Amino acid sequence: MLGLMQGRPLLISTLIEHAAKCHPAAEIVSRTSEGPVHRCTYGDIHRRSKQLANALTALGVSPGDRIASLAWNGFRHMEMYFGVSGTGAVLHTINPRLFPEQIEYIANHAEDQYLFFDLGFLPLIEKLAPALKTIKGFVLMTDRAHMPADGTLDLICYEDLINAHSSDYDWPTFDENTASSLCYTSGTTGNPKGVLYSHRSSLLHAMLTCSVDGLALGTAETALLIVPMFHVNAWGMPYAGAMCGAKLVMPGPALDGASVYALMRDEKVTLALGVPTVWLMLFGHVDANRLVPKTDLVLRRVVIGGSSAPRAMSERFETNFGAFVIHAWGMTEMSPLGTVCNLLPKHRDFTLEQRLDIQAKQGRAVFGVDMCIKDDDGKLLPNDGKAFGHLMVRGPWIVESYYRGEGGEILDADGYFDTGDVATIDPDGYMQITDRSKDVIKSGGEWISSIDLENAAVGHPAVAEAAVIGAAHAKWQERPLMIVVKKANQELSKEDLLKFLDGKIAKWWMPDDVVFVTELPHTATGKLQKMKLREQFKDHRLPTDA
Ligand code: AMP
Repeated sequence: MLGLMQGRPLLISTLIEHAAKCHPAAEIVSRTSEGPVHRCTYGDIHRRSKQLANALTALGVSPGDRIASLAWNGFRHMEMYFGVSGTGAVLHTINPRLFPEQIEYIANHAEDQYLFFDLGFLPLIEKLAPALKTIKGFVLMTDRAHMPADGTLDLICYEDLINAHSSDYDWPTFDENTASSLCYTSGTTGNPKGVLYSHRSSLLHAMLTCSVDGLALGTAETALLIVPMFHVNAWGMPYAGAMCGAKLVMPGPALDGASVYALMRDEKVTLALGVPTVWLMLFGHVDANRLVPKTDLVLRRVVIGGSSAPRAMSERFETNFGAFVIHAWGMTEMSPLGTVCNLLPKHRDFTLEQRLDIQAKQGRAVFGVDMCIKDDDGKLLPNDGKAFGHLMVRGPWIVESYYRGEGGEILDADGYFDTGDVATIDPDGYMQITDRSKDVIKSGGEWISSIDLENAAVGHPAVAEAAVIGAAHAKWQERPLMIVVKKANQELSKEDLLKFLDGKIAKWWMPDDVVFVTELPHTATGKLQKMKLREQFKDHRLPTDA
């Protein structure tokens, strides 16, 4: 027997329609590529995304066509989130930090029809254009006044394009399983693979983001999206923002500490979301200028994901900013939210020290994410907080297969997707990543977590960043090599650091060597590029290796 409730599909257009109806005046504030800070409302975004929808129709864009964006976080990009997907076309957000050859590969692989891009990417696009085989037109996301006087490309001006069309547009109704957006993973090996989100998966994910044990996004929040709109839809925040009417603050291209701090202060940001590297730049700015964030800002919560949030970072936000760190974990293939580190009633009386231990974990699975750990043979491992194994997930906003079948069958017999992460899950359900399966250090048949060592090292006041890789060892096959970037003007020796680590990690996990470098390599999404480090240090001789 079927239920007798309305079967209205979950469509992305309903989000912005709702926003325009119920919180039309809530603001979207963007630092623009042109320079000034721009202010508009959900009402404006709705009106202009309908103009964009009409413009796309006039350009001959049909449902299912891929429309690419190469842009920072800003209001025009947000209009594309609704204006492109709302028509039934697919928004393909391209990460501008990828190598040009990778951008060329994914734009051709996705068979993008139009490419919309920010002012700063003009030189890149001019260079790439001849190789982009399916693009029919290039749209520069700016107004007439900022269009280049000359150039090699015949460009369409975004503002001209949408202003030529009315905002009379009825969002079409279609199957909620229709594709809405496409994002390629920046895999460290092989070609990037496309994750094709649906309207349904994006809406369910947004509902979760607004729920209390999700990210508790609500009308009262002012959220700063440091996490880019070209990386897993800015963790789905534009959709969730429209759902609840949160004020959204977009940093544009300016992710340096000074710019981020100014936006936090001027826009009275209460919630900020980003990867650890941007927070390190923010701390650097605070230190260099002797700022007092606790009095300057009203920041209450910081969501950290993408890489592990070091304990010292959570502590710093708490004591220096008065902000609570919500550690979260997920991935492109998961829209991205998987786990959120919220506290349980039993943690209420914990000391700060004890609580920080909990916050260092990636958190508990949210509803919609069925998660377990399995061993190499696919056997389920216990949730005892000790056993670590391959972290497996399944759920309605988790990938079933990659775009155009790349990578073949990616689910196991039980329908689980292997995240490539290695983790423990404790009896309370808190998951803790111990490594990427390819980064774990295999010492004499036992596994050492590179992430645990890195987190312990950044607890030292003179350490800015640390990476640990397995270096070849005749007896143990691999032993940990720690590579450290010191904070500016700080003295630190290998002996000091090892002494600091003593007692904080298992004795046999102690790095066999420490080297100091001025900089560590990062991927296009801000993660440590361990493959590059392994290449760079492949001939490093450990002092313990006879
Ligand atoms: P991406 O698809 O680029 O978002 O990368 C997803 C990967 O980032 C995950 O599989 C993890 O390896 C890593 N990751 C994301 N969040 C965290 C976290 N909180 N702690 C440690 N690693 C994380």
